Amino acid sequence: MRNFSIISLGCPKNLTDSENFFSIFKQAGYNFTDNVNIAEILLINTCGFIRDAQEESINTILEHILLKNNKLKKLIVTGCLVKRFQEELKQEIPEVDLWLDLKDFDGLQKLLNTHFKIEREILTLPHYAYLRVSDGCNNRCSYCAIPDIRGELHSISIENLLEEAKILALKGVKELIVNAQDTSNYGKDLHGKSMLVELLTKLDNLKLFKWIRLLYLHPAHLTKEMVFEFSKIKSLLPYFDIPLQHINDNILKNMNRKITKQETLSLLNFIRETIPQAAIRTTFITGFPGETKKDYIELKNFIQEFRFTRLGVFSYSQEKGTPAYNFNNQVNKQTAQNRKDRLMAIQQKISEEIMSSFIDQELEVIIDRKANEESFLYEGRSYLDAPEIDGTIFITHGNAKPGDIVTVQITDSWEYDLVGKIINNVTNT
Ligand code: SF4
Repeated sequence: MRNFSIISLGCPKNLTDSENFFSIFKQAGYNFTDNVNIAEILLINTCGFIRDAQEESINTILEHILLKNNKLKKLIVTGCLVKRFQEELKQEIPEVDLWLDLKDFDGLQKLLNTHFKIEREILTLPHYAYLRVSDGCNNRCSYCAIPDIRGELHSISIENLLEEAKILALKGVKELIVNAQDTSNYGKDLHGKSMLVELLTKLDNLKLFKWIRLLYLHPAHLTKEMVFEFSKIKSLLPYFDIPLQHINDNILKNMNRKITKQETLSLLNFIRETIPQAAIRTTFITGFPGETKKDYIELKNFIQEFRFTRLGVFSYSQEKGTPAYNFNNQVNKQTAQNRKDRLMAIQQKISEEIMSSFIDQELEVIIDRKANEESFLYEGRSYLDAPEIDGTIFITHGNAKPGDIVTVQITDSWEYDLVGKIINNVTNT
């Protein structure tokens, strides 16, 4: 979380404006500090009423410019002085990063949600980036501390997200990864219903991204209608990341997941019928309080039968402050770990079989980087692989550069990864 600080000069009206700016920083996830020496963003709210106040404002700006040699990354100046002398100030003090109009609260909000956020978050390779569409979560899963830490669901408007997406495209992003704590619920706080389909359709209509990938779909809020609409969105990859956490009805109920085994199966089967090539990724938790051997075997059988393309298993972690922390029948940690290890071993075999079924097939691959190992030229990913989470495609032949999207013929497979050769030129849009 980034630190911000505010220096408020002048009258009480200015102080009220500073308080509004303060709330906007907080909503955008910034942390207030009254120590300007450790602030990464400093907003100076100036006064330009009389000559003395103007001088005081200018001196304050000049004094704080020096902090840019240290922690300070962005110096923003707003207030009456800016309203009166913006053009002259821009010429005279170029070290200021942004001159914000008097009371331009929307301007600050937009900036924090777009430009600054992007500068903060493009830590990925330049050809893919994450578009965080909301923060917080209303679900209150009984094992999870996130709603207490990050608060209730707070979605960013479609308008702001489209602007952010356009900037990302200008920076060379080809794969846009839409994420949030619960993407299925995106926009519910603003519109009373999920706006995910609308958002994805508008992102697709921009025609700026070859690939759009969706993460963290809560199954209870992912409807069949949404899945059907997804199937019509051209740039949306057939990749479904749906954390299920368990399949036993009692455990699901105690986890407060608001979905049953039957509803889960119906949804998953619908995805496979509607989008046969869909890569379905999920995560499960072993050792949740009350998980009996029978419950674990039910989960194991389900994993063996459904054959997820990608699967992660975590052993339950007893988080203080969550309802499940106080549940009586906590499972022994070693048992939870053993169950996790066994499920991962089962999945390894399934994954190996699924990966080998891709041999001789052609896949579109985004090139991430030159390969680290000598026997390969490049490393990339197909629709099956979210970065840092899933597998890699190792390329043995062909010419490409990072960020290119090429067609690759698969020649070999490992447990989670594939090997292939580039068989045509770049297919970038
Ligand atoms: S597990 Fe996910 S959906 Fe459940 S409360 Fe935590 S963040 Fe929300």
